[in-house]
Amino acid sequence: MTSTERSIAAAEAHSAHNYHPLPVVVAYAEGAWMTDVEGRRYLDMLAGYSALNFGHGNRRLINAAKAQLDRVTLTSRAFHHDRFAEFCTELAALCGKEMVLPMNTGAEAVETAVKTARKWGYRVKGVPDGQAKIVVAGNNFHGRTTTIISFSTDEEARADFGPYTPGFEIVPYGDLAAMEEAVDDNTVAVLLEPIQGEAGVLVPPAGYLPGVRRLTAERGVLFIADEIQSGLGRTGRTFACDHEDVVPDVYVLGKALGGGVVPVSAVVANRDVLGVYRPGEHGSTFGGNPLACAVALEVVAMLNSGEFQQRATELGEHLHQELNLLVGGGAVEAVRGRGLWAGVDIAPSHGTGRQISERLMERRVLVKDTHGSTIRIAPPLVISKEDLDWGLDQLRAVLGS
Ligand SMILES: *Cc1c(COP(=O)(O)O)cnc(C)c1O
Repeated sequence: MTSTERSIAAAEAHSAHNYHPLPVVVAYAEGAWMTDVEGRRYLDMLAGYSALNFGHGNRRLINAAKAQLDRVTLTSRAFHHDRFAEFCTELAALCGKEMVLPMNTGAEAVETAVKTARKWGYRVKGVPDGQAKIVVAGNNFHGRTTTIISFSTDEEARADFGPYTPGFEIVPYGDLAAMEEAVDDNTVAVLLEPIQGEAGVLVPPAGYLPGVRRLTAERGVLFIADEIQSGLGRTGRTFACDHEDVVPDVYVLGKALGGGVVPVSAVVANRDVLGVYRPGEHGSTFGGNPLACAVALEVVAMLNSGEFQQRATELGEHLHQELNLLVGGGAVEAVRGRGLWAGVDIAPSHGTGRQISERLMERRVLVKDTHGSTIRIAPPLVISKEDLDWGLDQLRAVLGS
């Protein structure tokens, strides 16, 4: 048995099988490259689903974390700590908002947004108690908690986890008329991914997000943008909503906010929304801890330079140009996305997304399939153009294009 096989067998014996990882065991990573336990190097074209936008072992982020490790790592919110105010101020400024509610994982931040919208609905909008409704989109992915999977349309994510949380209505993504129909007097929020990541990097039709913005503003409904995967530079702008000059009421952030170092998530909004909370009504032991704040502060500083958005724009243009050349050649049916983010639909005759991912792995490129025949390409924004081109060469070789 190789050390890879031993490691995988042990993982299969002693961990729940809620994932189906590619058979690679990573031991080391730097920038856009990962090295496995047997010394093979792989180009990371997934970047932890955008949690690693700034690459593996980014020196600025690692140094920020190391400096904080030597000072103080956790206080709980029972006390103030000296990185908290700075983090909240800087993140709010990045978002053009007034307040931040920090959590840890993306799902917790989505839960927080749902709770915030409901509380806002009862306390500010005047919705009758217990009647708040939140409109969401089909094929959404917002996380894995029982409430969040209650409004998923993915049977795999939902089955056998009921009973489900009520209070959500699902409408087709990209369909403004359906959204308009669903919004009623008890609707407190519309919750959307501005680009649907897990669904296959689906970009909504032009005008959809501005339409949702107009509708929600007119009807006194909060527009919550789940930018956990789409935000923080991935699409070439700080937020995917920026591409259509849309400013939601509430940003939900996660993944890249923790710099690939620690889980950091947040809900960001103005005082008229996040001001609804009183002490004791919501919280998290680890939310906004000093280590998380120190790393996320560095993430915000890096985003403030605009340099990563610029890279994602330039390299993204190149990526999409190259991928679009494959469309119509037989192997690739469609390519979607924005910036350094693409969903590539493989013709079923050329294999499933999983098979393509495995073949790419043999050529030392790591990607992840989603929903059958789609692979998702989302390398760290620090990837070099040469490495990106090399990765594309491997994709062309695997597809025989
Ligand atoms: C990953 C993701 C989440 C959930 O984040 P976790 O940190 O895995 O809980 C929520 N929304 C979107 C859009 C995501 O991509």
